[in-house]
Amino acid sequence: MKITLLNGPTCDYQNYCGFPLKVVNSLRAKRLSLRIDEKQHIPVLTIPKRCSQRKVKEFLDANHDWVVNMMARLPVAAKFCDGEKINFWGKEYVIKHCPEGKSTNFAGEVLKVSGGEEFLHRRVTEYLKTQCLKVISEMTVEKAALLDAKVKSVAIKDTRSRWGSCTTSGHISYNWRICMAPLEVIEYLVCHEVSHLKHPDHSAEFWNCVAMLHPTYKETRRWLKTHGKSLYKYI
Ligand SMILES: [Zn+2]
Repeated sequence: MKITLLNGPTCDYQNYCGFPLKVVNSLRAKRLSLRIDEKQHIPVLTIPKRCSQRKVKEFLDANHDWVVNMMARLPVAAKFCDGEKINFWGKEYVIKHCPEGKSTNFAGEVLKVSGGEEFLHRRVTEYLKTQCLKVISEMTVEKAALLDAKVKSVAIKDTRSRWGSCTTSGHISYNWRICMAPLEVIEYLVCHEVSHLKHPDHSAEFWNCVAMLHPTYKETRRWLKTHGKSLYKYI
């Protein structure tokens, strides 16, 4: 990948550092930075204007090991497949590909998936998203009622960086992958977001509110921090 520096000649930084790299020349950035784009599975180097090639190379040298380490820790992208066991809302199901079937649905301990094999991953994803929205909306309204708070809307999003969000006007959204976490972890997330209906910050009052709704929040929050990333492997 060749890039043109704003202040002069070109330099192939990807070739220089020896790993795939996305280079962003930024007019707004104040300093050199490196981050990992987890969705694209690639490190991103941001170069501010008027930054010399020498500085960029030094920066890449200094951060080489960090990038290699972070990339190694990224979960490998996975696709749902026939025979795989998955968790949904605290229950285990086995994915069963039924090419002749008419629809995709849970049946006992099985998730039956119709259609061609090439669409299986997408069908499972879409089905889980739809089912997740149903049950998590109900739970959200239930928990909000305990606080005497009103929810305007609940949505499912495909975010990579956060599990949930709540606007001051009462719109709550969740990362659909949360439906594969243990039930008490889902409950913690819902309690967290509805508590924001009363406290828009992460103040002591906010955490008191979470604790009131979900007394074991410290453990479940820890689970999400430690194991949550593993659910991101489904893209
Ligand atoms: Zn929060």
